[in-house]
Amino acid sequence: MTFVFLPPVQASIPVAGSTELFPVHRIYCVGRNYAEHAIEMGDTGREAPFFFMKPADAVLPVTEGSIGVMPYPPMTQDLQHEIELVVAIGLGGKDIAVEDAVAHIWGYAIGLDMTRRDLQGAAKKLGRPWCTGKGFDHSAPIGPLHRNAPAGTISLDVNGVPVQAGVLGNMIWNVAETIAQLSTLFELQAGDLIFTGTPAGVAAVKRGDLLEGRIEGLGTLQVRIDQ
Ligand code: MN
Repeated sequence: MTFVFLPPVQASIPVAGSTELFPVHRIYCVGRNYAEHAIEMGDTGREAPFFFMKPADAVLPVTEGSIGVMPYPPMTQDLQHEIELVVAIGLGGKDIAVEDAVAHIWGYAIGLDMTRRDLQGAAKKLGRPWCTGKGFDHSAPIGPLHRNAPAGTISLDVNGVPVQAGVLGNMIWNVAETIAQLSTLFELQAGDLIFTGTPAGVAAVKRGDLLEGRIEGLGTLQVRIDQ
């Protein structure tokens, strides 16, 4: 053996107003959770939510007031943005009741579920997993966690132009229902993050673009796509 083994680093994200870091256990994501986005992706109606995952170290942590830099990923011609409310779990559990779900939440953040849409589309067509389309390195830029629940609007501007906008109250499955559903499939653990779906307006980004996500009560998430 001619190398030095470097143990993996615990993935973590910042906490607003603190130097504390929140350790990330798993990243769950909800598909199609706003009606207008479901329609733009070809769906109608309220079906049970579906979930996919990204690896914990897909997070690209962005500290308060800074601009995160996301490398343009390899093997895609169609990198797309999805602005999302992220919920951090502070207390694990399985088969969590809807009315108990909020008590399991540690905090909330703004996140981007960045997607290699061409690879995801090819996988869908062939009935193959979404890992390469969704779970690639740095595919989950995320801002600092806030303890208070946000309410109101969620939006994304690209280079100052509004591209995505929605209302958190228009989620097909709200945060409590999502936690309850997910906890029937997996035992949730402290450190889990849940990306709760994106409103309409997903589109491609290019190298050099500046993405500015906003959620009322959570501030702004700024991410630059690297040249
Ligand atoms: Mn998404």
